[in-house]
Amino acid sequence: MSEQRSKVDTTSWQGFTTRAVHAGYDPDPLTGAVNVPIYASSTFAQDGVGGLRGGFEYARTGNPTRAALEANLAAIESGTFGRAFASGMAATDCLLRAALRPGDHLVIPNDAYGGTFRLIDKVFSQWGIEYTVAPVSDVDAVRAAIQPNTKLVWIETPTNPLLNIGDIEALAEVTHAGGAKLVVDNTFASPYLQQPLLLGADVVLHSTTKYIGGHSDVVGGALITDDEELDTAFAFLQNGAGAVPGPFDSYLTLRGIKTLGLRMDRHSDNAEKLVELLVAHPKIEKVIYPGLADHPSHAVAAKQMTRFGGMISVLVKGGKEGAHELCSKTEVFILAESLGGVESLIEHPAAMTHASTEGSPLEVPVNLVRLSVGIEDSADLLGDIEQALG
Ligand SMILES: *Cc1c(COP(=O)(O)O)cnc(C)c1O
Repeated sequence: MSEQRSKVDTTSWQGFTTRAVHAGYDPDPLTGAVNVPIYASSTFAQDGVGGLRGGFEYARTGNPTRAALEANLAAIESGTFGRAFASGMAATDCLLRAALRPGDHLVIPNDAYGGTFRLIDKVFSQWGIEYTVAPVSDVDAVRAAIQPNTKLVWIETPTNPLLNIGDIEALAEVTHAGGAKLVVDNTFASPYLQQPLLLGADVVLHSTTKYIGGHSDVVGGALITDDEELDTAFAFLQNGAGAVPGPFDSYLTLRGIKTLGLRMDRHSDNAEKLVELLVAHPKIEKVIYPGLADHPSHAVAAKQMTRFGGMISVLVKGGKEGAHELCSKTEVFILAESLGGVESLIEHPAAMTHASTEGSPLEVPVNLVRLSVGIEDSADLLGDIEQALG
C-alpha cells in the first residue's frame, strides 16, 4: 500500500494532553501492550500476492510504529493528515518539492532558520525556484512580496533566533488572497502553545528534534495538513525519496510527545523567571521574549499563543566578546546547538546555528545569545546565568 493515510478523528478528545497520550495507538489486541511496539521489520508478510494483513508491505512506505506517530502528530496539531520524516530538513525538502515547480516563487522570513534558508538559497535555486525575504511581523510587507507565481508563504513564529512574531490569521488571509498556501514552521511554539491549522495555515512543519521529541535524543521532522492533495504528494515523496524515520526514532518521538504539555508549561515557567532576571541585569543590552509587554508583537503573540515558551534571546553588552564570555561561563546551561530539550542550552547564533547567514539579508547581530530554557529547577538556572554574567 503506497499511499497509506493516517486519518484520525480527534473530535471526541478536546484536551491536548489526552490526545498527546492516546492518539494513534490502542492497546495491542493480542498482548495488551499499552505502548506501541518498536516494529523492527523492513518488510511484511503477505497472505497471497497483495494480501496485506495490517496495510503494511515495506517499511520505507509505511511502518506501524511510524504510523502511530503520524496519527498522533495529526491529532496534536488538530490536523487530518500527519507525516513523519528523518529530520526537520527532510520534511522541509519534501514540502518544497511537493508544492513548487521550476519558475515558482515563495516568500520566506528575513530571519528564517538558517538551514531552511540554505536549502532554498543553495539547492532549490538551482531548479529555478525564486524567493523573496520579508519580515513575518509585517503583514503589508508579506502581501507586497507575493507575486503572481508565488505558491508558498513560509513563516516561522516565533522566528529563530530573533523571536519575531507573525500574525497567522492575518497572514493566512493575505496568502490565500494571493493564491498561495501558508506554511507555518511551528517548531519554536510547539502545538501545545500554538495551533496554526486552526488559525488558517495550510501546512504545519516541525523539527520534532526540538520540543516535540523534547529529550535531545532523536532527530526528526513532521508535516501536518488538512489538504488531501498535498498529503498525497507528501506520501508519494516519503516513499519515492525515502527520508523516513526508523521505528526506534518514531518510538522515541512518540514517547516524548506524551509529556509535551507538561514540559512546555515548565519551560514557560522557567523562561518567565529568567526573563525577569535578565531584564534587570546591567550586562544585558536587550531581552527578546514575546511575553514581554515591550516586544513589538506582544499583542499578536498573546492572541495566538497560550503561553510564550522556553526560548529567550538576549543582546549582550560588550559585542561578540561579551556574547562569547557568557556562553563559555555557564555551568548548568550547556553550550550547544539545538533547542527544546529538557536540559538548558546556550548558544551564539552568529558563530553557530546561523553562521551560514553571514553576509546575507538574514545575518544576525554578533552580540546575540540564544537560550533554550530547560525544565531544571529555576533557582539553579537563575543562579547559573547570574554567576556567568559575573
Ligand atoms: C532545527 C530546526 C529546523 C530543522 O530541523 P532538523 O530536525 O534539525 O533537521 C527547522 N526549523 C526550525 C525552526 C528549527 O529550529
